[in-house]
Amino acid sequence: MDIRTVCVVGAGTMGNGIAHVFAQYGFAVTLNDVRQDLLDRGMAAIAANLDRQVRKGTLTDELKRQVISRIAPGTDLAAVAAGADIVIEAATEHADTKKDIFRRLDAACRPGVILASNTSSISITEIGAVTKRPDRVIGMHFMNPVPVMKLVEVIRGLSTSDGTFAAVKELCGRLEKTPVEVNDYPGFVSNRILLPMINEAIYCVMEGVASPDAVDTVMKLGMNHPMGPLALADFIGLDVCLAIMNVLHDGLGDPKYRPCPLLKKMVAAGQLGRKSGRGFYEYEKK
Ligand code: NAD
Repeated sequence: MDIRTVCVVGAGTMGNGIAHVFAQYGFAVTLNDVRQDLLDRGMAAIAANLDRQVRKGTLTDELKRQVISRIAPGTDLAAVAAGADIVIEAATEHADTKKDIFRRLDAACRPGVILASNTSSISITEIGAVTKRPDRVIGMHFMNPVPVMKLVEVIRGLSTSDGTFAAVKELCGRLEKTPVEVNDYPGFVSNRILLPMINEAIYCVMEGVASPDAVDTVMKLGMNHPMGPLALADFIGLDVCLAIMNVLHDGLGDPKYRPCPLLKKMVAAGQLGRKSGRGFYEYEKK
């Protein structure tokens, strides 16, 4: 299948990054969100990130203009998705929201169009089951920040066809990303391994084994991690970390995935990391 036009649903952190990368690699992109001001904010983030590439000398001003001109934002999902050869959903991580979007995409898109989700933790099989094309539903889990990170975890639901997987794998190559094939189980691979490590780091703080800075220093200098697990938890958002631990705990039913009580307490207190100004570290509020 010749994919030329890509529709991205959700203009937040991940959606605007995904739209940016597809436009940079020459695809026509449509971008959807529920309100115009959210689309404006997404387009402004893309412009700011492209400016950074121009300053670094990896992109010219003329190319920046071309990339932006390839992205057409719109608030009407059916209209924005109708002409797409593939749709990538990057809306809020909420199962009912995603299922509603996929039902509407299934009705709006031509038969055969692949519907992909960037979900971090919701079952691709469940999302596919609300459509009449579960064989064409797949996970494309990009990493943050999308223009920088090379990995795409490609998640096959129980009904995802070989043809859909092959088309998405080829598409990742066209973006110079590395696709990794993963089956649909809670947390996939990335979060199944990353989040229990973060959770264990939080246990170390709760039990007084070491301070947050000491835990992060051990992992940075001792294990060569570019960022300590607690700084990373603040970056991801502690609410997001808790939600993913709950998905692992509920989905796999093993007590080893129980979320650390300190993580729960911090989320209850609104200490969510960078976005709230405070998590394991303090940040200037944006
Ligand atoms: P975000 O909150 O920055 O953006 C989500 C956007 O979706 C918002 O602009 C919101 O208005 C929009 N939205 C909500 N309901 C919608 C609807 N019905 N139709 C269209 N748009 C809608 O969130 P994000 O961090 O970009 O995450 C998006 C998805 O990507 C989630 O599934 C998340 O799990 C996944 N993800 C996030 C990261 C990360 O590091 N942030 C990494 C990988 C995957």
